[in-house]
Amino acid sequence: MADFDVDLFVIGAGSGGTRAARIASSHGARVMIAEEDRIGGTCVIRGCVPKKLFVYASRFAEDFEDAAGFGWTLGTRPSFDWPTLRDAVANEVTRLSGLYRKGLEGAKVEIREERAVVEGPQSVRLAKSGQIVRARHILVATGGWPSFDPPIPGGELGISSNEVFHLPVLPKRMLVVGGGYIALEFASLFARLGVAVTLLHRGDNILRGFDEDIRTRLRDALAHAGITFRLGCTIERIEELADGTRRAHCPSGTPIDADVILVATGRRPNTKGLGLEQAGVELGPLGEIVVDAATASSVPSIHAVGDVTNRVNLTPVAIREGHSFADSIFGSKRWIVDHATIASAVFTTPEVGTVGLSEGQAMAAGHDVRIFESGFRPMKATISGRQERIYMKLVVDVKTDRVLGVHILGHDAGEIVQAVGIAVTMGATKADFDRTVALHPSAAEELVTMRTPRAG
Ligand code: NDP
Repeated sequence: MADFDVDLFVIGAGSGGTRAARIASSHGARVMIAEEDRIGGTCVIRGCVPKKLFVYASRFAEDFEDAAGFGWTLGTRPSFDWPTLRDAVANEVTRLSGLYRKGLEGAKVEIREERAVVEGPQSVRLAKSGQIVRARHILVATGGWPSFDPPIPGGELGISSNEVFHLPVLPKRMLVVGGGYIALEFASLFARLGVAVTLLHRGDNILRGFDEDIRTRLRDALAHAGITFRLGCTIERIEELADGTRRAHCPSGTPIDADVILVATGRRPNTKGLGLEQAGVELGPLGEIVVDAATASSVPSIHAVGDVTNRVNLTPVAIREGHSFADSIFGSKRWIVDHATIASAVFTTPEVGTVGLSEGQAMAAGHDVRIFESGFRPMKATISGRQERIYMKLVVDVKTDRVLGVHILGHDAGEIVQAVGIAVTMGATKADFDRTVALHPSAAEELVTMRTPRAG
């Protein structure tokens, strides 16, 4: 013990690293954590938290319109002020970052606000001060970073989701590139804030990997909300016109002009220049740290959690991995994270909530499936007059009756799926769903009242 300055050195104070540091410390470990950016990581500083606050802002537009049908008259025409939202969100991010810091300090974790690089299997160098810290264990929790690969001429004229939170003015026209979580969430929210949004994606449909029925219905709903789709397209160059307009050129079709081009074509693990290869840590093709189920890298004293391992890139997964690492190495309980059934949401409007296998995945895995689905107009829309529908789908294994997947498109889909995810994780059968008494009137009651499987 005396040979080491600390028991654990954590690189990266995001969701996974912070949880690991606090838990390890609670088990009696001497812990140091280094962060070169703001404490809190992607989720708190430039991801889930500020994004969700923007989503809330974007949904007021519909609320104001819908209120009229329920007898409300709004005195003046509602207007939206971007700087007010942007700055309020920035303040909230600062508050949360402060709470993360307090949490670490309260747990007696030593914080170093500078870049740290791995010097060897059990040593870390702090880049600014040059200090070498000898650590019994090293945990790399450096997350990921937006990537646009391969680079294209004028690519630097686009921005990533890192910058989108700080736009000086609300653009009139925005081009969003990509068809994944980030592209769709920002396309949806900016469209509802009044921006003319075009979404350009290389595939023939959005959200590859999600259930086909959800993909198509979401695309149609977003098109109905005013988003212009250019599918089956890639950008080959971007140029800046004299008035500052960004013009994106594609191999076919007319060029697209926008005030802001948001590139959301995925993220890459943050491992560049961390000294990992020199220390003998095996990296995968995207630079991800290859780890076993217990988060250990090819160097036994170096572990990694979260997006830097490029397994399931979601905040709660990183937190759980950090917790399991700390309990297993410094506590009395060894446990590993089960990545099998993880609920997730896409915070578009309408929202997607999903847990378990899609119909396609279930069939590819050899299941004989029975599909239950329901599409209906939400009660609120009957009076507001809004043209919207909710869609719910259960994927059920014929042989075992087990519910393999639940997929929802509509208001509060994420909230509903978080709860129903418990049932799916527990291995609930369709019969279990059927014997659950409905909660009326709610949208979620459809999940327990569907009785007739889809024909075919
Ligand atoms: P995703 O991997 O979800 O989507 C990337 C998109 O970019 C895909 O549509 C992909 O197309 C496309 N793409 C990739 N490379 C290129 C390229 N060279 N040219 C053109 N298009 C390209 O990444 P995101 O950036 O949206 O999100 C990153 C991660 O962050 C996600 O994996 C997710 O786990 C997490 N996240 C989660 C959220 C949530 O839980 N609500 C919200 C935001 C992010 P194709 O499908 O053809 O590969």
